[in-house]
Amino acid sequence: MRPEILFPLFRPITALTGVGPRISKFMEKITGEHIVDVLWHLPSAFIDRRFSPKIAEAPDNTVVTLEVSIAKHFPSRNRRAPYKVSCFDETGPMDLVFFNARGDYLKKQLPEGEVRIISGTVERFQGVLQMTHPDRIGKPDELADIQTVDPVYPLTAGVTNKVMGKAIRGALEKTTELPEWLDPAFKQKKKWPHWQEALEAAHHPQEEEDLFADSLPRERLAYDELLANQLALALVRRTVRRAAGRSVTGNGNLRQQIRDSLPFTLTNSQEEALKEIEADLSEPLRMLRLLQGDVGSGKTVVALLTALIAIEAGMQAVIMAPTEILARQHMETIEPLLSGTPITPVILTGRDKGKKRTEILERIATGEAQLAIGTHALFQEDVDFANLGLAVIDEQHRFGVHQRLALAGKGQHVDVLVMTATPIPRTLMLTAYGDMDVSRLLEKPAGRKPIDTRVMALSKLEDVAHSIGRMIAKGARIYWVCPLVEESDKIEIAAAQERFDHLQSLYGERVGLVHGKMKGAEKDAVMTAFATGEIDVLVATTVIEVGVNVPEATVMIIEHAERFGLAQLHQLRGRIGRGMDASTCLLLYGAPLSENGQARLKIMRDTEDGFVIAEEDLRLRGAGEVLGTRQSGLPEFKLAQLPAHEELLAAARDDVKLILEQDPELASERGQALRTLLYLFEEDATVGYLRSG
Ligand code: ADP
Ligand code: MG
Repeated sequence: MRPEILFPLFRPITALTGVGPRISKFMEKITGEHIVDVLWHLPSAFIDRRFSPKIAEAPDNTVVTLEVSIAKHFPSRNRRAPYKVSCFDETGPMDLVFFNARGDYLKKQLPEGEVRIISGTVERFQGVLQMTHPDRIGKPDELADIQTVDPVYPLTAGVTNKVMGKAIRGALEKTTELPEWLDPAFKQKKKWPHWQEALEAAHHPQEEEDLFADSLPRERLAYDELLANQLALALVRRTVRRAAGRSVTGNGNLRQQIRDSLPFTLTNSQEEALKEIEADLSEPLRMLRLLQGDVGSGKTVVALLTALIAIEAGMQAVIMAPTEILARQHMETIEPLLSGTPITPVILTGRDKGKKRTEILERIATGEAQLAIGTHALFQEDVDFANLGLAVIDEQHRFGVHQRLALAGKGQHVDVLVMTATPIPRTLMLTAYGDMDVSRLLEKPAGRKPIDTRVMALSKLEDVAHSIGRMIAKGARIYWVCPLVEESDKIEIAAAQERFDHLQSLYGERVGLVHGKMKGAEKDAVMTAFATGEIDVLVATTVIEVGVNVPEATVMIIEHAERFGLAQLHQLRGRIGRGMDASTCLLLYGAPLSENGQARLKIMRDTEDGFVIAEEDLRLRGAGEVLGTRQSGLPEFKLAQLPAHEELLAAARDDVKLILEQDPELASERGQALRTLLYLFEEDATVGYLRSG
């Protein structure tokens, strides 16, 4: 249960003054629905109103706070003309300018003959200083209230900075000092303020430096968030590991049979990974291992051989993919490999309904199906296993930590192998997996030829469309990826349809189309046609991004490549270069290309190393955007900025290690405070893994 001290922070934002139901709808989009979310919304700039020159000394285009005498009002003569108020001080005159003004209101605010404090941006117009729509107007005794530094917040349509600022001030008022969860010595060494103090300061920047990631208040808040993240992951991991495992060893017969039937020998990396997995499984602990391997590095066969260990030991195994297409692809790869063995795998996806589904569930429940391949449909509550021993989760960053646990819960002590194709930068690894055991497939299967990647302007598109005719004639198979349209699936699909029509007009029946809104069976039919060579050109939206395996495909064309994240481009490009033939990737960009865009496409041209690409992506874009929203599952931080706070992340990991050694159930006073920290960052579920107290 959430501690009482946090209750005020978890009230809806509508409890804040100035935030009604209408505004809250807009605000929620960038903050979140609770008051605490508003607190995490830190300013990106500030307006300094402390500068108070005389009128004659006020520089153009600066924000100033002036003390002036009001001379005379000049109401506008027509609706377009501005309403002017002339003022002066001992150094000269100036004009206040208003459009669409209400005269009676201005007369009250700025009575002729009186002194007023005004604050806003000034400029000179025909030699006369003027201020259009002052931000603030007040009486002389309000000077101190006006001469402030106002935080400027990132905004969204429907929320002004004034509303946001007021809401945040209101939220700050709801905070109390929380019990300190930081190690006192560490905190002192870092010279960090208390939590509440840090929040106040972070929301009231006074100098440019206060906005930097390394300002003390921001560091403190970032560390809190990272500490909560690392602690939560450590608790999940400990819980999984602790749950009594069993030693799983097989006689190796099935594995040998499969190895013998493979048309290739395993790479050293694959052998190494399998050894590590075997060692994990043979221990009476639960396995929780990550298999990280670039696209095309051959994870599937490792997954299969891992599953066979469990099956040899008389248990069931599942291999789970994030999408229907991928699950079917796994089935298609794996089924023929198993044909000489007594094992018949079943596949279960969201598409299986009614009688068919019941039959599959039956076979899973009786244990007749030793291997189940599928999507998250395998998570569902009515899926019962006779004796589930192992789960392989492919392309896992689409699944959250808690989903992984849900699956692990399907068996009494299910070992888990998580596979990811996206080379996650080391920094982010830690935030997504904590200290998970990792095996890496570093080398690509032998015989692969490098991909020739070229970058060219979209204006060449017509040439490209014609030139692929020659490639088709030579028997090439081609992916044509249509632009990513973040705002709208509809536009994205329309664009794909248009390209499809265009290419079909050139190449007729040799062209197929696949997109996310197509029915499963339709998608399958097109994918199969492409895999078997019935069609040569596959026009696609990003649905082909992950895992699809057609080794004969050697050409990839990506329109508006600059709109994609690097990780995504890398994933897409990984669809080619899988066979023995040389491959080509064309990255078409829309001009003009920003400097950052140029740098990113250059990286794609220069390297195929997913790790290099991932690190560069992180450097160029920051963690928030790496991998993109579509592949979320990596935690998104609100306060921590990676890679700027990378060192804090490592410190948090070490901190957590010590904490759990010294106070495994978080029972001490600091332990209690750390529980509060977990709740503060909405890791409620992980507190459940602790003994209560
Ligand atoms: P990914 O790691 O992207 O999932 P896959 O498992 O789909 O990669 O493997 C890509 C291709 O490489 C498949 O066609 C697979 O049969 C082949 N492959 C896997 N391991 C080897 C190997 N050791 N030698 C040659 N080809 C291999
Ligand atoms: Mg794969």
